[in-house]
Amino acid sequence: MAMSRGLRCCQRIFSWIPVVIISSVVLWSYYAYVFELCFLHHNNFFSAAAYLLVFHVCFVMFCWTYWKAIFTPPSTPCKKFHLSYSDKERYEMEERPDAQKQILIDIAKKLPIFTRAQSGAIRFCDRCQVIKPDRCHHCSVCETCILKMDHHCPWVNNCVGFSNYKFFLLFLSYSMLYCVFIAATVFQYFLKFWVGELSNGHAKFHVLFLLFVALMFFVSLMFLFGYHCWLVAKNRSTLEAFSAPVFQNGPDRNGFNVGIRKNLLQVFGEDRRLWFFPVFTSQGDGHYFPLRTLCEYQNPLLASEGRWAEDGGSDEDSTGERDVISAEKEQHVLSSA
Ligand SMILES: [Zn+2]
Ligand SMILES: [Zn+2]
Repeated sequence: MAMSRGLRCCQRIFSWIPVVIISSVVLWSYYAYVFELCFLHHNNFFSAAAYLLVFHVCFVMFCWTYWKAIFTPPSTPCKKFHLSYSDKERYEMEERPDAQKQILIDIAKKLPIFTRAQSGAIRFCDRCQVIKPDRCHHCSVCETCILKMDHHCPWVNNCVGFSNYKFFLLFLSYSMLYCVFIAATVFQYFLKFWVGELSNGHAKFHVLFLLFVALMFFVSLMFLFGYHCWLVAKNRSTLEAFSAPVFQNGPDRNGFNVGIRKNLLQVFGEDRRLWFFPVFTSQGDGHYFPLRTLCEYQNPLLASEGRWAEDGGSDEDSTGERDVISAEKEQHVLSSA
């Protein structure tokens, strides 16, 4: 027991290594660009000031988005998706798998769930004792179920999911911008180095490495960013791109694809002024997502967001809510049959 706790502690410490590497490279690039290049080797004051201004905007945005991607806790399913004490007891007492499945089906009727496991059963996490909301997956690194889980990213040492997907995308964008700006402005120094005009030994080292590191990061980020742009346009998570979500009528890769514009709004929100800032603006609460087959007569993210709110309404109200959900589900089954 103590051994496994010790191992877990070591694992937790080692998991910060990629973040430390990225932070060190960025801090070094800051020193090299600002002090070694702009302060010591830039002849024109005005162009140096302009470079420094743009550089600092990119740098601050990069740090802000990186910070938010790392330290935004991934969201987990709310209480309504956890088995109640009595349900848990009933589930554990039952030994027949079919009867257990039926218990889960009965509980899931009260919840806005449209996806199923590959076998057609209700998606249930044994470790968290939770009925998984649509697009929710268990992360073995975080040891919990994560809403709209995309992937566990070692470079931010965090799960990328509903709560921080926008921050992760902005982090990729500003990292690329930071790299492009450095590569574009350092290139002139590289040319000077090429023709032998750069005399100082330190500057040579910094120019070469700044250009090399910026280009290397830019190329690798470009592919990752391109892939995520495609995923956002299709409204798929990385996990869903590998394994299509299963609905009542079978697997459907485009089950959550409600058109590029709406897909984009789901991640970035309605207010375009906030799109480029790492503040949370994603639509919904991560427990429910509009379906392609339902979106024509239903816009649940905006209209029914409060329906499954944690502490909204009396018991009588919640019974009414269940009826609405059941009716919608039945209609969905009928329309998909
Ligand atoms: Zn879980
Ligand atoms: Zn994780």
